[in-house]
Amino acid sequence: MPCNFSYSHYEKILKDAKRLGYRIVTCGDFAKKQPKPPYIVLRHDIEFYPDRAAELAKIERRLGVKSTYFVRLHANEYNPFGYKTYDALKIIASCGHEIGLHEESTDFSRIFREDLAGVLRRDKAVLELLLGKKVRGFSSHRDFTGYDNLALWRKNNPKKYGFEYHAYEDRFFKGATYVSDSLVSWKSYENGRLTHRKDCLCKYVAERKPRIYALVHPRGWHQHSYHTR
Ligand SMILES: [Zn+2]
Ligand SMILES: [Zn+2]
Repeated sequence: MPCNFSYSHYEKILKDAKRLGYRIVTCGDFAKKQPKPPYIVLRHDIEFYPDRAAELAKIERRLGVKSTYFVRLHANEYNPFGYKTYDALKIIASCGHEIGLHEESTDFSRIFREDLAGVLRRDKAVLELLLGKKVRGFSSHRDFTGYDNLALWRKNNPKKYGFEYHAYEDRFFKGATYVSDSLVSWKSYENGRLTHRKDCLCKYVAERKPRIYALVHPRGWHQHSYHTR
């Protein structure tokens, strides 16, 4: 099967990983206890398309795989309390996946000149109210604001804000192969260092890399792939 961004290829990647004995875990479960290799920590940042995230969630559910979906609360493109997005989040949760916060508290607090800690605490509380459960972790969103949401977390502990972890902590990257499809183009990091490889996630699985941290953005994936990179 050629590499592309179709749901069927996504399914094949996970099936191959399972066949090769990979444990596939959520960010929250990894943060609590690192599994024995080979493992894949499977993460999704929901940037613009909660409906596509729900499609990935259903594929994973069929294969008995759990992953983490980080959702934004301040996107102009969707409203977590809107009917379609609320439905998508319910589907993701009902498939047994973890839902975390895709935080943008530095952007939001600087733009509106509001207290950053207050913004973050409010976002966490709102998402917990929406989901009816505790939000354990977050990943930082990157936008075109000129601010860096991640900068805060280079010197601050997420526990200070009531979170168990954040998705850019060193422990996720140490000794691991980080594979991401941002902007519908694959890239990878080995032990935190960018490589020149542009290979699809399936190649790293086929090579049996022992520790994989995969970030799969729902935005690029479709029933029929439009992208071949
Ligand atoms: Zn592939
Ligand atoms: Zn993002």
